[in-house]
Amino acid sequence: MQEMTHYIDGAHVKGTSGRFGDVFNPATGEVQAKVPLASVEELNKAVAIAEAAQPAWAAMNPQRRARVMMKFVDLLNRDMDKLAEALSREHGKTFPDAKGDVQRGLEVVEYCIGAPQLLKGDFTDSAGPGIDMYSMRQALGVTAGITPFNFPAMIPMWMFAPAIVCGNAFILKPSERDPSVPLMLAELMEEAGLPKGILQVVNGDKEAVDAILDHPVIQSIGFVGSTPIAEYIYGRGCSNGKRVQCFGGAKNHMIVMPDADMDQAADALIGAGYGAAGERCMAISVAVPVGDETADKLIEKLVPRIEKLKVGPYTSGDDVDYGPVVTAAAKENILKLVQSGVDQGAELVVDGRDFSLQGYEDGFFVGPHLFDRVTPDMDIYTKEIFGPVLSTVRAGSYEEALKLAMDHEYGNGTAIFTRDGDTARDFANRINIGMVGINVPIPVPLAYHTFGGWKKSVFGDLNQHGPDAFKFYTRTKTVTSRWPSGLKEGGEFHFKPME
Ligand code: NAD
Repeated sequence: MQEMTHYIDGAHVKGTSGRFGDVFNPATGEVQAKVPLASVEELNKAVAIAEAAQPAWAAMNPQRRARVMMKFVDLLNRDMDKLAEALSREHGKTFPDAKGDVQRGLEVVEYCIGAPQLLKGDFTDSAGPGIDMYSMRQALGVTAGITPFNFPAMIPMWMFAPAIVCGNAFILKPSERDPSVPLMLAELMEEAGLPKGILQVVNGDKEAVDAILDHPVIQSIGFVGSTPIAEYIYGRGCSNGKRVQCFGGAKNHMIVMPDADMDQAADALIGAGYGAAGERCMAISVAVPVGDETADKLIEKLVPRIEKLKVGPYTSGDDVDYGPVVTAAAKENILKLVQSGVDQGAELVVDGRDFSLQGYEDGFFVGPHLFDRVTPDMDIYTKEIFGPVLSTVRAGSYEEALKLAMDHEYGNGTAIFTRDGDTARDFANRINIGMVGINVPIPVPLAYHTFGGWKKSVFGDLNQHGPDAFKFYTRTKTVTSRWPSGLKEGGEFHFKPME
């Protein structure tokens, strides 16, 4: 059995806590490796190394730090297939999806190459007699990030690339479900020229997370994961005086207006609802057709498309639509929620409960499900299922559909499909959700914009990547300077050349 490591001070090191977690191959159900779960002492050691290494890194000019990112982009492209393979093997997502995971992280690294420009401060000449005022952005020191299983390449890069290019050291505590890619990324960053100790990977569970939350040297914490844990991390981190940003769960609605191109809407729902087995925080999990006629047409278009979905392991080719979910526990939770939908009176139009794949009977595959006539009081509507399950809630009018999405506690992403510009514009203006798609089902902003939801999908003030990341990972210092020897009596300026 492969024993995985931490990545501390530029080297792979074995865990010393004696505690391990299982890393599965979700396609076969087999345990393929053991990941060490760090103790408080192991975390403390990494923090001490980071604290010693960070000042020299912060003192290096931003162009040189940016060059490390440039080289890192080259290495990500060189190793793209290797990274995607390791990712699919532990996560279960298809090979093209795994490459997309790396690619969307890489794009944020590319954005970070602009650090010399993005970190530039402001300057006011002659703010008063002989007085100049300038502000600069300085690194925080040692920073940390706690990441989820569903994007093991992209989300770590969204955090560590801006943190590091701003001059910080970064400790990554990745998901214990799929830790291989984060370890590979740390190695590649050093190959790109990053000094030892600036990016370290400490594998672990709640014990390591709590040690991060309580460590007095750690200045900031980024978290992405489920809402209950996001809320916990935000509360404990803030009460310890840290800068914290936490991104939580989602229940993304897609409103389908009667004038929408119904084929386009159905295709969009297939990709956004079932792609990556629904394990995306930007997945559409609720379809809201407006009017019964629209609903009937949409269901009629969806059913044959769902029945054609190819579910399988990433090794069976690029035409697989989605793979297994991440663990047996995740599968069980999804099927339990599906059963609750049936028990609470929703109409199960496509039933994937008996799905089984020959040769992969022990894998964590879940067949696609489609519910119709879901109501807002049902568990399948209120809870995040994080599986290949699409719920249809029929709305009587546009206002009713809008209110439905607005009243849900989550506010990560949403979409509207319509041909009417007025309706689309009204929706974009009034909806209380952070990321909005107009005829775009998964509106993930690109690297130079920022990513983040509203309501219970976020805790904190700044979004991920884009200009917000440079604010989150730096402090502003403003200097007011006066050189009175440059002034003649009476306040008139007199230039005195240096002798
Ligand atoms: P999770 O909350 O179970 O785990 C996330 C991280 O928190 C992991 O590193 C895990 O080790 C740690 N953790 C888990 N339980 C903990 C505890 N009790 N105390 C301290 N730390 C703990 O989430 P997940 O299952 O890995 O990921 C799926 C969730 O992430 C979904 O809810 C999804 O919507 C969300 N997500 C959100 C975004 C976003 O940007 N909003 C992006 C991706 C995923």
